[in-house]
Amino acid sequence: MDAKKIFDQMTPYKPGKQTDDVKKEYGLETIVKLASNENPFGYSDKVANAIPTLATHVEIYPDGYATELREALAGKLNVKKDQLVFGCGSDEVVDIICRTYLDTGMNTIVAKPTFPQYKHNALIQGAEVKEIPLHDGYHDLEGMLQAIDDNTKIVWLCTPNNPTGCLIDEAALTAFMKKCPSDVLVVVDEAYYEYVTSENMPDAIQALKQYSNLIVLRTFSKAYGLAGLRIGYGITSEKIANLLNITRGPFNTTRVAQGAAKIALEDEDFLNSSLEKNTKNKQQFLQFLDELGLDYYDSETNFVFVKLPVSGDALFEHLLSKGYIIRSGEALGHPNGVRITIGKKADMDAIQDHIRSFLAPVI
Ligand code: PMP
Repeated sequence: MDAKKIFDQMTPYKPGKQTDDVKKEYGLETIVKLASNENPFGYSDKVANAIPTLATHVEIYPDGYATELREALAGKLNVKKDQLVFGCGSDEVVDIICRTYLDTGMNTIVAKPTFPQYKHNALIQGAEVKEIPLHDGYHDLEGMLQAIDDNTKIVWLCTPNNPTGCLIDEAALTAFMKKCPSDVLVVVDEAYYEYVTSENMPDAIQALKQYSNLIVLRTFSKAYGLAGLRIGYGITSEKIANLLNITRGPFNTTRVAQGAAKIALEDEDFLNSSLEKNTKNKQQFLQFLDELGLDYYDSETNFVFVKLPVSGDALFEHLLSKGYIIRSGEALGHPNGVRITIGKKADMDAIQDHIRSFLAPVI
């Protein structure tokens, strides 16, 4: 049997260059990956110590309700336990939302460029995807509102946005929610929430009390450093969470992931030290970009999108040859730029030297 027609136009997710490939290709000993906005400072020692114990009795299915993590997270966020839905990464929560709400004849609205899985999963459901270009890295919220029609089911707001790092501030989100019809679901993806330092960060969880058409997404993959364990979550009304929990697989997060996430939540020292180092190293990197006269988008995340006078691929290839994997804007739907995850100080110092010498002939 043939797959859906839409698959003719789609390709499987192709991750950026992997460390081992680059080692072989360039004969390098050490590779530093600053391409996927992972935490360069690793993860909590308390998680590391607990993993051997969490990884026993693997013959038994995990707790499909993620009871302990659910209780801990509900307490921390001050929401009801049944307002939460866990996924194998927030990637899976995106998929669950699309499978629950989208079908042929419906449409969904995304920014361009933004996190690609919204579009990917919507297309698989047969929905039309309306892409509204960003304004200098920020969502064009007015344009997104205007694109809403009778068949619109979901609007995706990625804030801060990947790949630009720009935040939708409180006033903008409130104005958007007020104008958005209540039968259109608004998904606010806050994968980089913990990194935000702006005082104008909206309290999207608080907004759930006011808007019954809102889902907030968060993840343990970024600031908590658990990307390899695959666990993220959605927070919404009990009514919507119930539907999403019907759609999701019964044992979609592992015991190791649930246990590690619970411990990671408790280890505020690790989280805060990662955030502090990120802020400091990012400031230093932005100062370097300013000195070089390179433009970039405002970033409230652990990455910076740098605009370049050359193609993103050219700088990407150059840094690759020096042992640094970053993300070319070409691959992210934004040519003439690169997205660089903020790394450790020594790596940022080295990367700056390489960028300076590579761009010297053109700036
Ligand atoms: N949302 C955004 C904006 C992201 O950048 C990512 C990861 N790159 C995700 C969701 C998915 O994260 P995960 O599945 O690891 O939770």
